[in-house]
Amino acid sequence: MALIPLLPLFHKFNRLFFENSLVINFEPVVDIRWSDNRLKTTAGFYKRRQINGVINSEIVLSKPILEPLPITDIQSTLCHEMIHAWIDRVLNINEIHGANFIDKMKKINSQQSSFKVSIRHTFPVNRKELKYMGKCINCGSIFMYRRRMKNIACKSCCNLFFKGSWNKKCLIIFENQ
Ligand SMILES: [Zn+2]
Ligand SMILES: [Zn+2]
Repeated sequence: MALIPLLPLFHKFNRLFFENSLVINFEPVVDIRWSDNRLKTTAGFYKRRQINGVINSEIVLSKPILEPLPITDIQSTLCHEMIHAWIDRVLNINEIHGANFIDKMKKINSQQSSFKVSIRHTFPVNRKELKYMGKCINCGSIFMYRRRMKNIACKSCCNLFFKGSWNKKCLIIFENQ
């Protein structure tokens, strides 16, 4: 089956659930795209990058994981990542799955019943053992780990800003529980 285009879905959700806040001057504040075939560890992610002072963020949905699943799984994954984008770009809050996320998720789930947003993507992914979520304090990227790690830094930020060496400005921090 061909992959459905994500942009119309994004615009629809933006209107229905985010009061149009994710579009400015007809431009989405975040890029939305399907991954290539290699993204097999997560159904989707949101990522912010700041290059030369310009913020550009994107939502990537996993083609290999979501392609065989029903459209409701695509909808709930996109919506989940849109909540991350909204918290980051509209609320300007540094949070993963905290109070704002949960509030918004509950609201969306009560507004409609065709799909359900959850905190974790519960698809057939080998991420059972990857249960710890860390977030780069610099770019906001989220990574999954088998255990909590201390003093690890985001590889792409270290490469981008510190010539590949470890720097505490791009530490990966872990959720409380
Ligand atoms: Zn999430
Ligand atoms: Zn980073």
